[in-house]
Amino acid sequence: MCDCASSSSGAGPFASGRELVEFVLAAHGGEVASAPLQNGGLETRCQGCGKEFVLKSHVQACPACGGVHAISPPRADDPGAIQFAGAQFKLPDGQRS
Ligand SMILES: [Zn+2]
Repeated sequence: MCDCASSSSGAGPFASGRELVEFVLAAHGGEVASAPLQNGGLETRCQGCGKEFVLKSHVQACPACGGVHAISPPRADDPGAIQFAGAQFKLPDGQRS
């Protein structure tokens, strides 16, 4: 697997909320963020608007409201580990799917 825990900023794969989202976005130059999850993704519910959707990559926006959700690779099989960046957070250009 990857060595994501080696961040020196204090953020890491077990951070929460926006901190985790930003960590995954930056990990491995952005490769992790767009990498598909195993087993077709995780069914989840948007933590912003409540709409159900499938998280198919490590960082993905809700199809209804655009709220950004992320999961870190070490926890990618745990829907409860999905973190929500907050309603005001938007993906940088180039990260939209
Ligand atoms: Zn939403």
